[in-house]
Parts: sequence; structure tokens; C-alpha cells
Amino acid sequence: SIQYSYERNVATYDGSMSQKHIREMMMENEFESAIEREEFVIWYQPKYDVKTERIEGAEALVRWKKSDGTMISPGEFIPLFERNGLIVRLDEYVFRKVCQIQRERMERGERVLPVSVNLSRATLHHEGIVERYAQIVYDSQVPFEAVPIELTETAALYSIQIQGLTEKMVDVGFLLHMDDFGSGYSSMTSLNVLPFRVLKLDKALIDFIGNSRGDQVIQHTIALAHGLGMKVLAEGVEVKEQVEFLRTMECDEIQGFYYARPLPLEVFSQLLDEEQKA
Ligand code: C2E
Ligand code: MG
Ligand code: MG
Ligand code: MG
Repeated sequence: SIQYSYERNVATYDGSMSQKHIREMMMENEFESAIEREEFVIWYQPKYDVKTERIEGAEALVRWKKSDGTMISPGEFIPLFERNGLIVRLDEYVFRKVCQIQRERMERGERVLPVSVNLSRATLHHEGIVERYAQIVYDSQVPFEAVPIELTETAALYSIQIQGLTEKMVDVGFLLHMDDFGSGYSSMTSLNVLPFRVLKLDKALIDFIGNSRGDQVIQHTIALAHGLGMKVLAEGVEVKEQVEFLRTMECDEIQGFYYARPLPLEVFSQLLDEEQKA
């Protein structure tokens, strides 16, 4: 019977793997037409100033809205596109779109707040990436401040291997934010070597709030970042107690469901307009 259940397990495992594989093949095959049909849509999650509780900026988060109306979350396709290299094109597509949207807001005389864009490790590794991205900024005539770039700690650390890449980005004018800090193997090397403006504390750290050891970890991480001249943003903030604790700790910005979820452009723009009137 052991043999039997063993075989059954193997069979089940193979079955679910092939389901996943089929879905991945679908996403890979449909990537090209999805770009053409503009099925990749960008949602905006507001970032709030802890003191004023006003919107200070947003993060651009991509979703795949298929023609049948179903949505695929980035958690599903980003890891795949990171493995097969398509992420380089998707990242550039998102960056170009965000620059365009910022440009249009400027032209209409609307309030322009920084909208940060995520860059994968694979994208960083791509030949001539700094020049390409800088060209997009120049072509769309937006200031670098309007489109900060988020790199995860691991992507950033990895880029140390690519001689001076992040330094080159900063020299050109890009503002860098370190994403997901504290989600994996955090290393002081990343804080020491790399020129980041903002440290984004990962939800995994924020979830420690309320446990006395966790509170101390956050307190000292914020102090460390401030000491190094960085601003601190807390990600994944969902409850009031977290907001209050972060305010006491002098965290600068908050991004999380407590204030707002990622929103389609129209809803985000509306929110900005309403806030400006208030
Ligand atoms: P991220 O860059 O760390 O983005 C934050 C993620 O946390 C978003 O998930 C956001 O919806 C979620 N989040 C924000 N506040 C809360 C909260 O209070 N509670 C919870 N449970 N979640 C919260 P999303 O949009 O599903 O994106 C997941 C990841 O996909 C992103 O993590 C980022 O790594 C990646 N991603 C998204 N768009 C892009 C892109 O254009 N390029 C690249 N390379 N990666 C992207
Ligand atoms: Mg991010
Ligand atoms: Mg993050
Ligand atoms: Mg994340």
C-alpha cells in the first residue's frame, strides 16, 4: 500500500505540473499579441505621507487583462517572464507607458507626483539598459524625479557584479528605491555600496509589528536608513495599529491596503483631483 500511495502521489504531482506548464505555455505564446492589443494594463497604488496623510506618489503595478475580461496577476506571469527573458520587454513597455502618462499629466497642467516603476534583475542585466531607459526619459521629456526606479535588494546586490551599474544609473539621473527590503537575506552590503534614495520595508517586516522583538527590528532599521540619508517607506500596511506604530517610529511613507489598493488610472487620477480640491 505504501507503494500504491507513493505512485498516486507521483501521479498527482505530475498532473498538477503539467497544468501549470500548459498555462505557462499559453502566457508565453500570447505575450506578443498581448503587447500589441495593449492587454498589459498598469495600476497605481498610492503612497501616503505618514505625517500629512496625503498622497506623495504611487507605484506602477502591471496586470494582464485578457480579452475575455479575466485578469492575471503579476505574481503569476512575472516569475515566468523572468525565466524566459520576456520581462525585459515588459519592463520597458511599462516604463515607457508611465513616462507617457506623466508627460500627458504635465501637458494638461495636472499635479504630477512620482510614479515608481519596477525593474527586474534580468532587465538590469540586459545590454545597454541604462542608455535605453535614459533615452525614454529624454524622449518623453519628463524629469527623472517623476519616474523613480524600484530594484529589489537581490537585484541590486546582483548588479554589483555588473560593474558599477547602479552608480551609472544614478549618474545619469535616475532615482533608485530599494524594494522588498527585509524579505530575504538582507545584507548590509546593499546599504553600504548602493546609492538608494528610499528604502521600502517589505510586508514581511511590517507583519512583525506588535511583537516586541519585531518592533525593535523595525525601529532600528528605520534609524539605520535615516542615518544613511534614505527615506523609509513601509509596504503592505493593512491595519491602523501598524500606521500608528510607524508614525511613532518616524517612518516617512506608507503604501498598503489600509490607505489604498492598486487602482486603475482613472480611479487614481480621480483620487488625486479630489485630494487637491480638499
Ligand atoms: P512589489 O513591487 O513589492 O509590489 C507590491 C505588491 O504588494 C503589489 O502586488 C501590491 O498590490 C501588494 N500590496 C500592497 N499593499 C499591500 C497590502 O497592504 N497587503 C497585501 N497583502 N499586499 C499589498 P502585485 O501588484 O500583485 O505585484 C506583485 C509583484 O510583481 C511586485 O511586488 C513586483 O515585484 C512585481 N511587479 C509588478 N509589476 C511589475 C513590473 O512592471 N515589472 C516587474 N519587473 N515586476 C513587477
Ligand atoms: Mg515594487
Ligand atoms: Mg515591494
Ligand atoms: Mg514584493
